[in-house]
Amino acid sequence: MKSGSEVLCFLFGCKWQGCKCTRCGKTRDQEHDYRPVPGRCVSKCAVCGKDLPQPHRESPDHYELSGTDAIARCALCKAEIWRKKLYLCEPDTILTLLRSTSDRTAVTAFFFEYMNVANAAYHERRRYRKDVAKAVMGMLSHTELMTLLHSGKMSHPQLWTLTGIAEDEVLADLCEDSDPAISDKARHETRMREDMRRRLQEETFCPDGNPHEFGEPFTEWEDRGFRDDDDMKAREWALAEYVKCSKCGFKKLLGYKKRG
Ligand SMILES: [Zn+2]
Ligand SMILES: [Zn+2]
Ligand SMILES: [Zn+2]
Ligand SMILES: [Zn+2]
Repeated sequence: MKSGSEVLCFLFGCKWQGCKCTRCGKTRDQEHDYRPVPGRCVSKCAVCGKDLPQPHRESPDHYELSGTDAIARCALCKAEIWRKKLYLCEPDTILTLLRSTSDRTAVTAFFFEYMNVANAAYHERRRYRKDVAKAVMGMLSHTELMTLLHSGKMSHPQLWTLTGIAEDEVLADLCEDSDPAISDKARHETRMREDMRRRLQEETFCPDGNPHEFGEPFTEWEDRGFRDDDDMKAREWALAEYVKCSKCGFKKLLGYKKRG
């Protein structure tokens, strides 16, 4: 049995006011009167109580660390908006989260993972940044670093990456390490740094220790050897541009202007 008002609505249609019929009390999913709900990312209809989800509020102030994952929580309702590997985040986010965490294991674990990222396939490797790696390495205590190095978990590529970014003092320590897998790489890196410094020294100073005094740039034709892409074995000549020190005669190469 329908009530009187239901019969009237059945015959003549409901008398809608917003989402609710003023005669029979039926509701419809239209014209709700949504109001914000404090502390939640939903609006609620003041008439029928229906919830309407609202976008969460993402803010870097509400990123947090969980192991080597980063989590973004909604600034309003604290719900998890996203979760991803920390190394996939922006450098600022990576460093801020690692600096503010009290979870030392997370810092070491991230560093270990980041040394892997440096040696991964291209799409992951491009996430690696040397300045970030150095900064994170600087957050590790000497003990934490040594524990990681001697954990036996680090691969050779990871060790190469690590020695490549180590500060000079740390590198000197690593050269003396009892594990040849570590000390060999550290010594190799030390030699490369010394070579680079020597080259820089030679390019900047005369043998007497005073700065070079370079004259005007000049060019010279140089034989650059066989062109490897040429069946006729034509030699490649290039126009080299130099400056020369008027005191010691040191020639500094500025660059090549290629010509076949
Ligand atoms: Zn009605
Ligand atoms: Zn409603
Ligand atoms: Zn929210
Ligand atoms: Zn000179």
